[in-house]
Amino acid sequence: MKNAKPPVVRLLGDDLASIKEAIGSHLLYTVGKEPINATARDWFMAAAHTVRDRVTEHWMPTLNRYYREDSKRVYYLSMEFLIGRTLVNSLINLGLYDTVRQAITDLGQDFDEVAAWEVEAALGNGGLGRLAACLLDSMATIGVPGFGYGIRYDYGMFTQHVDNGWQVESPENWLRYGNPWEFPRPGVIFPVRFGGRVIHFRDVLGHTRSQWVDAEEVMAMAFDVPVPGYGGKVVNNLRLWSAKSTREFDLKYFNAGNYIEAVRDKNESETLSKVLYPSDMTDRGKELRFKQEYFFVAASIQDILARFRKSHSDWALLPDKVAIQLNDTHPALVVAELMRVLVDEHQIEWNKAWDLVRGCCAYTNHTLLPEALETWSIDLFERVLPRHLEIVFALNHEFLQSVRYRHPGDSELLRRVSLIAEGHERRVRMGHLAVIGSHKVNGVAAIHTGLMKSTIFSDFEHLSPGKITNKTNGVTPRRWLLAANPTLSALITSKIGDGWITDLDKLHKLEPLADDPAFRKAFAAVKRANKERLAAMLSQRLGVEVEVESLFDVQVKRIHEYKRQLLNVLHVITRYGRIRSNPLLNPVPRTVIIGGKAAPGYHIAKLIIKLVNDVAEVINNDPLVGAKLKLIFVPNYNVSTAELVMPAADLSEQISTAGTEASGTGNMKMSMNGALTIGTWDGANVEICEEVGEENMFLFGLSAQDVARRRVDGYDAVAAVKADPDLTWALEMIGSGFFSPDQPDRFRPLVDILTTGGDHYLLSADFPLYMAAQERVDQTYRDPEEWTRKAILNVARMGKFSSDRTVAEYAREIWGAL
Ligand SMILES: *Cc1c(COP(=O)(O)O)cnc(C)c1O
Repeated sequence: MKNAKPPVVRLLGDDLASIKEAIGSHLLYTVGKEPINATARDWFMAAAHTVRDRVTEHWMPTLNRYYREDSKRVYYLSMEFLIGRTLVNSLINLGLYDTVRQAITDLGQDFDEVAAWEVEAALGNGGLGRLAACLLDSMATIGVPGFGYGIRYDYGMFTQHVDNGWQVESPENWLRYGNPWEFPRPGVIFPVRFGGRVIHFRDVLGHTRSQWVDAEEVMAMAFDVPVPGYGGKVVNNLRLWSAKSTREFDLKYFNAGNYIEAVRDKNESETLSKVLYPSDMTDRGKELRFKQEYFFVAASIQDILARFRKSHSDWALLPDKVAIQLNDTHPALVVAELMRVLVDEHQIEWNKAWDLVRGCCAYTNHTLLPEALETWSIDLFERVLPRHLEIVFALNHEFLQSVRYRHPGDSELLRRVSLIAEGHERRVRMGHLAVIGSHKVNGVAAIHTGLMKSTIFSDFEHLSPGKITNKTNGVTPRRWLLAANPTLSALITSKIGDGWITDLDKLHKLEPLADDPAFRKAFAAVKRANKERLAAMLSQRLGVEVEVESLFDVQVKRIHEYKRQLLNVLHVITRYGRIRSNPLLNPVPRTVIIGGKAAPGYHIAKLIIKLVNDVAEVINNDPLVGAKLKLIFVPNYNVSTAELVMPAADLSEQISTAGTEASGTGNMKMSMNGALTIGTWDGANVEICEEVGEENMFLFGLSAQDVARRRVDGYDAVAAVKADPDLTWALEMIGSGFFSPDQPDRFRPLVDILTTGGDHYLLSADFPLYMAAQERVDQTYRDPEEWTRKAILNVARMGKFSSDRTVAEYAREIWGAL
């Protein structure tokens, strides 16, 4: 029976009449409305359920097939999944886009308006969470049995408003109207424990055993979200955990007659999945964050092992059947938790368990920035997870023993590689735990991986050569080209067919067309239409009018000092000064668009947002400037906004200090949509350059080695500013309060960082080179044919940056699952 292949039952029609009927039925029976009183949101819900039904038809057979074939499962553990909206993407992946669009139109509704009612799933901060979402799409598309595990936050990323130029955050209650894409699984629920203490005893065989007792318990309940691949045949699963209080926990109070206390406590245990931490780099020392990490790790491990045990009794098979990918160190507790479960609960011998753990786990590093490397204080660790701390100490002891054996007398080495950072407060280094617990460790771009090997993990590279490998990031061409840019997609398909959708290297066939004037004309018309689409949004949302003939110069990403939005603003101010001082100047008109969220506690990042808005206020209202220069801050940059912005960009700003941006993926999205990049020799820019050609980009600035050398030699920021009259002037304008007459010293902290503060991110060192690169941008843009030719070559040569390629590399070289 187990091996019998069940027939695939398809009950639901995909033709226009069936779809219309299904939407009408869902409107009535699921939403409880009739067309006469249905709102656009009601229509969205009806459409979403119609699509979900058709996704589900392929979902169950996919999961059954994995079970039947006993496939090796890949578990992608990530604290963040920045999914965005789902309707249009699912329709495209299922091949139902045109039919459903027609059906909605026939039913008297505007499809785009209906689709716009979907609240996006913003369960992530930025690049890391968006990568997880792209990899899920690609796993389903290329047929990897991939399962995402994460947290179903009640409140995802905050909504950003701009009030008088300042960022104001408001919570996004994205589940308010219900999430049509998820299936609650009240039956899939696991206990997760915190606190308590450890007892040690000898079992009947005389072995020392440990048991974690007296812990508090919270329940993790599963919500499943189907993930359809392109073509719709494979539908994988994303399982998100939501915290629920335990029943026993309640009873304790109910029995004591304290009803109110019981309910209050119930709420407290449910805060675990309440909110996403809105910082993409630093949330050090926050107990709730630590508990969130363990919460989803513990639930996922129980689920993974339960699934394994359904088909296997031999634990030795675990690494053959289970791959666990850790997206950054946030799920690194997997290493200790798996050890605990195998050793304490299943009585597997310690060394055997350790082999199993390392056989399953692999770890992706996302940053080299010291402030972003996760550590947890021993005090907190012990209070929340006492048994895990013991395990970490034991692993550390054995690991250091083995290092000492190979490098006798090198106590400095032991100090450096220890899982425990010794200092005035001892802390667990989660990166080191992830490295020793994994069989492979990867960086996300070639330069990043190289720097991992030569800096933060250089000792590990010597101890285990070959463990650290590179897996350059990618983005899914379904969302970021096919769905986001339908006009360009149609143009491409009309020339080379639609094979590029699942084999992005096929875009190479466009190369000869870069020299075809008719194709260039069509390509330029597409870009212009996309700019008009964005201009209409800016007009509607912000009430600003922009000139679509102008060069759209775009920097959209989280606001961070290392990403150097400030360098961008310094260029804008310099440009403004030149226009002001020379009214006869006829510059290339530019619309500089900046968007991104700042972590709520990151005051300098928020001050940068205010600066952008204050500078915009002055420039945009200066009659001497007019359409020659506009500066726009786009509020609430999220996936939906990105889908509108990427296709409209002429110039992609990727100007991080070399050695700081691990990869970047915004750079890929814009280049894939025909923007030229102005950027540093950092992250994936380097590889984009290898593919696209340096002559089709504007790369500038210090190399990562230059940056490191200057910092070692001691960088004189004040002298660097003094040496550049443009930079001196721009900083004077900011520092003197020209842009903030109501509070002249408002931006003093920014000026100080770049001068007396030592300019850690070396803006002043790169400024003259950046200005020169901007000059080259202008010169190229003055020749529209040449610009378009380069833009076409960017699109044609971006095949490498499909996340399908990324996933295939992980599957072959890390997961053993293709
Ligand atoms: C792609 C993307 C990012 C990552 O952008 P980078 O420029 O690589 O930092 C962040 N946020 C959103 C909404 C994205 O779509």
